[in-house]
Amino acid sequence: MAETVHVPVGGHPYDIVIGEGLIDRLGALVRPHLARAKTVIVSDATVADLYMERAVNSLEKAGIACGHIILPPGEASKSFAQLEQLTDTLLDHKVERRDCIVALGGGVIGDLAGFASSIVLRGMGFIQVPTTLLAQVDSSVGGKTGINTRHGKNLIGSFHQPRLVVSDLAVLDTLPSRELQAGFAEVVKYGLIGDPAFFAWLEQNAGPVLGGDRAAQRHAVAVSCRAKARIVAEDERENGRRALLNLGHTFGHALEAALGYDGRLLHGEAVAVGCVMASSLAARLGLAHHDECIRVERLFAAAGMKTRAHQLADTLSAGDLLAHMAQDKKVENDRLVLISGPIGDARILRGVETDIVAAVLEDS
Ligand code: NAD
Ligand code: ZN
Repeated sequence: MAETVHVPVGGHPYDIVIGEGLIDRLGALVRPHLARAKTVIVSDATVADLYMERAVNSLEKAGIACGHIILPPGEASKSFAQLEQLTDTLLDHKVERRDCIVALGGGVIGDLAGFASSIVLRGMGFIQVPTTLLAQVDSSVGGKTGINTRHGKNLIGSFHQPRLVVSDLAVLDTLPSRELQAGFAEVVKYGLIGDPAFFAWLEQNAGPVLGGDRAAQRHAVAVSCRAKARIVAEDERENGRRALLNLGHTFGHALEAALGYDGRLLHGEAVAVGCVMASSLAARLGLAHHDECIRVERLFAAAGMKTRAHQLADTLSAGDLLAHMAQDKKVENDRLVLISGPIGDARILRGVETDIVAAVLEDS
């Protein structure tokens, strides 16, 4: 059974369809969104090996002609060089402005193909078929697209909403467990920033969600998408509330920057430790109870994740992390997102004293 989440953004509302085996129904799902029966699927080599044939078969069965473009997997593909190659290849395929590009893959493919579709011919349609848990609950919702530059991640991009998102839960079966856990960290975040009942549900259901129980996965993905959709609809361009989605990310980005973006640390793994740090900071400021910090840490640990910086690497120093945070905070307008007690009630604080942040980092 599939579930649909509606994303009521600005002028371009769209649906997210969540269910099992949807890759094989892609043609029927996509057809109503195409102006003509032609599309180009963009994917990475790993995902293409697993799912491209089924996606193409389903589209062709629905009478849709489709080309496909396969890029190398990994964050390095979110570059100007790959963007140029992709936009040129799309033009080789003789795409028209009314056509839709289908992004089949994780957040890397969604961000890159989404950005390409926002600039080729001054903007074409695109459809997301996210294949990682992180992409299903986070990157495919909200319309942020982009690439990285030497100045940092995601600094070049656009807001470009998809016409449709198709999340097939069955594809999560082939995802490496570390990637699944990393996506789970973002799921937990939605509980922490506004939904204590969902957090409590996750405490009971982390095992089923990570173990492939479809009903549990559908619930986790749908609640997460609904939460993100609500926040994005309120604040499409990230002027206010959307910053809540960065819970744990100020700390997390510092961990990622300190350890280097070479795959040693996945983004979600950094976010998990970052959320634990954020809750511990909230406790130090008297905004959260110690018990709540324990619940946060216990949930990530139950998901098999590391919860402390020293577990990630023994080379991390509080000083280094602070320096990286200072840089990130500039980008983020000096915002720090904290958990305040009780769970589910996150708030945005500015200008927290460095000594207190340093103490949290020392402790982790
Ligand atoms: P990813 O796209 O690199 O995918 C992770 C790995 O899993 C890749 O090696 C991929 O080939 C493989 N993979 C994907 N689906 C698979 C499947 N079903 N089975 C087996 N292997 C599979 O990474 P990600 O974690 O999905 O996304 C991370 C990216 O998302 C980052 O670039 C980040 O900046 C971006 N992001 C964007 C937003 C946004 O709002 N646009 C939000 C969060 C993250
Ligand atoms: Zn994130």
